[in-house]
Amino acid sequence: MTTRMPAAKPDPARRVAQAWKGLLGRVGRLTAICLVAAGIFGAMAADDLLGSRQRSWQQASDQARQLSQLIGQEVGETVGQLDATLQLAAERRASAEIAAMPPALRRAFLFDRAVAQAHVRLIFLVDAEGRIALASRADAGLPPDQAAMDYVRVHRDRSWGGLYISAPFPGPDGQPVVALSRHLAQADDSFAGAVVALLDLGRIQRRLEVHLQGVEGGFTLGLHRQDGLRLLSVASGAITRQHDEAMAEIIAEAAWKPNDAFALRAPAEDHLLGAFAWVGAQPLLVSVTRESADIEAEWRAHAITTGLTMLGLLAALLTPILLLQREVARRRTAELEARRNSDEFRMLAENSGDMVSRIGPDRTRRYISPACRRILGQEPSALIGNAPRDVTHPDDRQQMIETLRPVYDGALEEATSVYRIRHSDGRWIWLEAMVRSVRDPATGLPDGVVAIARDITERKRLEAELARVATEDPLTGLANRRAFDAGFERELHRCAGRGLPVAILLIDVDHFKPYNDEYGHPEGDACLRRVASAIAASAIHPLDLAARYGGEEFILLLPGLLLRDAARRAETVRAAVEALAIPHRGAGPGHAVVTVSIGLAAAVPQADAVAAVREALIQQADHSLYDAKRMGRNRIAATGAEDAITWR
Ligand code: GH3
Ligand code: MG
Ligand code: MG
Repeated sequence: MTTRMPAAKPDPARRVAQAWKGLLGRVGRLTAICLVAAGIFGAMAADDLLGSRQRSWQQASDQARQLSQLIGQEVGETVGQLDATLQLAAERRASAEIAAMPPALRRAFLFDRAVAQAHVRLIFLVDAEGRIALASRADAGLPPDQAAMDYVRVHRDRSWGGLYISAPFPGPDGQPVVALSRHLAQADDSFAGAVVALLDLGRIQRRLEVHLQGVEGGFTLGLHRQDGLRLLSVASGAITRQHDEAMAEIIAEAAWKPNDAFALRAPAEDHLLGAFAWVGAQPLLVSVTRESADIEAEWRAHAITTGLTMLGLLAALLTPILLLQREVARRRTAELEARRNSDEFRMLAENSGDMVSRIGPDRTRRYISPACRRILGQEPSALIGNAPRDVTHPDDRQQMIETLRPVYDGALEEATSVYRIRHSDGRWIWLEAMVRSVRDPATGLPDGVVAIARDITERKRLEAELARVATEDPLTGLANRRAFDAGFERELHRCAGRGLPVAILLIDVDHFKPYNDEYGHPEGDACLRRVASAIAASAIHPLDLAARYGGEEFILLLPGLLLRDAARRAETVRAAVEALAIPHRGAGPGHAVVTVSIGLAAAVPQADAVAAVREALIQQADHSLYDAKRMGRNRIAATGAEDAITWR
């Protein structure tokens, strides 16, 4: 029990409370420090993650830009060479000597350089009507009338200057091609047709695919016309429709930008990164794009690992602190509760008329309430540390120790003990103590007792007085009839158990009525008192019991005496009364003093017939008394197991 006890020593409960308060403060500070540290670490980790994300994007962007420039250069060289061939063919066609050559020679002159280029499928001239005039192969595999083709229309309408690149279409052998063409003019600058080369897109595509080999990540490479029309694309993964649309939009915008290479994220789709490069001086662009998920894949894995590590660290840091904080809060509540209980206990104890004490397992007082001043005449400080048993009455000590032992041991919850204890003025005070066992709330082990003691000295006195009044004859001070009956019964039983005899003497004052008449009633009372004391003096054994049996009749109980011995005692009583020599004028002839007649009886009582023996003894004694009176008074007469005895 953590009950607070008032003492000169520093209050232990307060010390405990202060210790907890200190610990709570430290735990609070520790939590704050940990949270701040966690915050700083978190911010650093977040900054690191943002930085690494930015680096990932930067790296991807640089890579895309480099790749687009490389491919742009490469494709640019091919297309540039082909355009130069087209321009040369257009110039040569205008020369009169060449025009006059037979077709085979002319074909060689105009187209040889172009045919040498592997990616050129076919090169041919169309006239102003759109008919094929001359082709690099005799069996061109194309319809002779090309008037409907866009490259004829564009040049005839002069809606395009310089190199025109058509939309992709199936070539003579069914493989996809694009037509690169230039305008042909007459000497008067009127439309003379066009020179057209079919570029093998499959071959270009295969060259682009080479760039994707060994490149990590999901790249898409594209070749586009200046107006955004896609000529071909290759991808290391699947090209999504979204991706395709977003790209067309970007390229349409990019087509009008002067820079030859740039990187940007798709405006509509936040998940694209692209780089574009112009293909030499041609109206063509190369695009390189990547999905953001692909760019961030590595970063994302890193971010998840870092995040989880941070969370784990935070949990590892905070869990013990939170647990400790909870434990501190729980103990504080318990401490407050205990303190409240102890305050209430103290208030009750100090305002109680009873003496409340807390006694430790070593049987010494730890606390005693101020009522001890009134009850024991001592200050609490003088009693703390003392053991109550040291000042207990020697007759009561053992009983008190035995009664309270099981309460101290915790075997019994509560016990009441009545004992005497020394007051400071030397008197013995009767205390009635209600003693309760106390257990240590932490260990559950017995931890002394709490005793509430009440001064019952006055009650004890009244009880004793009452007992005396109930059993004593007020006139003579002898036992009364009731006390005699109880004693007689008790001794009959006791003697029956041991096979001992019991004798009684029934004593009656002779001629007492005349005494009263002669001397008056008060004098009669005085006479009775003197006779009584003579009888009492004859009750020499501790178990002898002299009683007033009624009026001027007395009875003397003599346990253990046979009839003969009882007769001897009866004679002693008779002689003692006579020896008082109380004058008695009215006693009649031969009697000058107050005398008594005694009838006696004795028997060895049987345990199963105590009541019958009692009746018989009284009756026999009464008869004997009658005999004694009849025979002249101032004598004894007996009836019993032995022969009837009469003396004098
Ligand atoms: P006996 O020798 O035959 O016994 O004659 P006795 O006069 O004693 O006769 P009895 O026993 O009949 O008379 C008893 C008298 O004792 C009657 C009464 O006045 C008197 N007496 C009884 N009790 C008291 C008492 O308490 N005080 C006084 N003064 N007299 C009492
Ligand atoms: Mg009488
Ligand atoms: Mg009488």
